[in-house]
Amino acid sequence: MANDRFASAVFDEYLKKAVAHASSYLRKLPDRHVGARATRDELLQALRVPLPRRGDEGGDVIDLLASQVDRGAVACNSPRYFGFVVGGAYPVALAADCLVSTWDQNAGIYAISPLVAVVEEVAAQWLLDLFDLPRESGVGFVTGCQMANFTCLAAARHGVLRRAGWDVEADGLAGAPRINVIASAESHITIDVAMRYLGLGTRAVQRVESDEQGRMRVDALRDKVASLTGPTIICAQAGNVNTGSCDPLREIGRIANEAGAWLHVDGAFGLWARASESLRPLADGIELADSWATDAHKWLNVPYDSGVAMVRHAQDHRAAMTSAAAYLIQTQGEERDAVDWVPEFSRRARGVPVYATLRALGRDGIADLVDRSCARARQMAELLAQAPGVRILNEVALNQVLVRFDDDDDITRAVISGVQRDGTCWLGGTNWHGQAAMRISVSNWATTEDDASRSVAAIVRVFRSLRDAGPT
Ligand SMILES: *Cc1c(COP(=O)(O)O)cnc(C)c1O
Repeated sequence: MANDRFASAVFDEYLKKAVAHASSYLRKLPDRHVGARATRDELLQALRVPLPRRGDEGGDVIDLLASQVDRGAVACNSPRYFGFVVGGAYPVALAADCLVSTWDQNAGIYAISPLVAVVEEVAAQWLLDLFDLPRESGVGFVTGCQMANFTCLAAARHGVLRRAGWDVEADGLAGAPRINVIASAESHITIDVAMRYLGLGTRAVQRVESDEQGRMRVDALRDKVASLTGPTIICAQAGNVNTGSCDPLREIGRIANEAGAWLHVDGAFGLWARASESLRPLADGIELADSWATDAHKWLNVPYDSGVAMVRHAQDHRAAMTSAAAYLIQTQGEERDAVDWVPEFSRRARGVPVYATLRALGRDGIADLVDRSCARARQMAELLAQAPGVRILNEVALNQVLVRFDDDDDITRAVISGVQRDGTCWLGGTNWHGQAAMRISVSNWATTEDDASRSVAAIVRVFRSLRDAGPT
C-alpha cells in the first residue's frame, strides 16, 4: 500500500534500498557479462501482473525492479560496451542526477526554479566557451541530439523564412516560400526525422555525395548550391556515426555564407573534438555555422537524457521555441526561462548534471576524456589489424572503428553475434558502403587500456573459433 503522508523516514528507507541496489549494480559493472541474458518472456514472467488494486509495498517494488537488472539490462555503461555511440555516467554526473530527481524541479521557467535556471545559464555559457562558438548563441538543454537537431532546424526554418519576409510561426508553411534543404548522403537519420517534424518532409532533402570516409564532397555541394535559389538550409556533420569523420566544415561554411544559406551542424559526438587541442583541427571551421546540435549523454558521460541545441542567432532560436503565454509570468529581465529555448514545456533539470560534470572535469579533464577515448579506439584498431583476416575499414581519426573479417559479410556478422554472446564486451554491426562491418565506438570515460586489449582478445578469439569450426 502506498504511503500517502509525507514522511522522511519512508524516503530514507527507500533511498537506502535504491543506493544499495545502485552500489551493487556499479560494483558488478566492470566484470559482468556485458550483454543481456534474459528473454522478453522471462522478463514478462518476472514483471507482469494485473495492475494491483491495492498497491504493493514500495520498497518491495524497488527490490523487484533491481532483481531483474543483471539479466535484463545490457550493461551499456560498462567500460567494455562499444555499441552505437554510448557513454556511461561519471560518478559526479550520476550524483547530480540523483539530486535532480530528489529536488523534482520543473525547470521550464525561472519562476519555478531560480536555481536550475541559473545553473543552466552558467552551463550554457561554459559549453559555448568549451566549443569556442559565438558566445551570444542561444542554448537549449533538450533530451538528445534528435531534439537538438529539431530545435536548431526549427530556428533555421524560422530564420530563412523571416529573411524571405515570411513568419512561419504565425502563418505556417502553407503558401510559404519553398525551403531548399541540403544534407550529405551520410547525414544521420535524425535529420530526416526533424524534417518530418518540421513539415518540410524527407523528400525535400537534397543529398550531396560523400567521400570514402563519409565526408560531404565540397565540389558536389558547391554545384548543388549554385543550382538553387531561395531560402536554403545546409545540414553538415561533425562525427559520422560509422567512421567518426567530420565534413570539411570550413569550406562548407564558406559556401553557405556566400550563398546566404543557413548552415546547421549535427555534432552529436564530433563537436567534442573541439575540446581537445590535438583533435580540434577535425572540426575546424565549425564556428562558421549558424546552429550546432550535440549530445551530453554520449561523450560527456552524463545520464540520459541530455542533448544541447545551440543557435548563433538567438532571436531566431527564441522565436521558434518560445511559448510566451501571459500566465507564465515570464521574466522581463535577465532571468532565463528554459521554455524559450526548447520544445518542452515542463521539463527535467537536465542541465544540472551537465553543470556538475563540466565543473568537476574542467577543460583539461574534458580534453583528456576525448583524447583517451580516441587513443583506446586507435589501440583497438592497431591490435585488431595485426590479426590475419581482420581489416580496418576507416581512418581512425576519432573514436570510431569499422572492422571487417575475412572480407565476408556472413563471417563479419557471425563474429559480431559471437562477441555479443561471449559477453566480454558488446559491440554492434553496420553496413558500410555496401559491406557488413563491426562498429566499435569508444565513448565511455572508464574504458582502460586493459579493457581495450581484453576486448580485442575476445573478438579475435571468437573470429578464430569460427574459422576453426569451418564453413557453417
Ligand atoms: C546519436 C546521434 C544522433 C541522435 O542523438 P540522440 O541523442 O540519440 O537523439 C544524431 N546524430 C548523430 C551524428 C548521432 O551520433
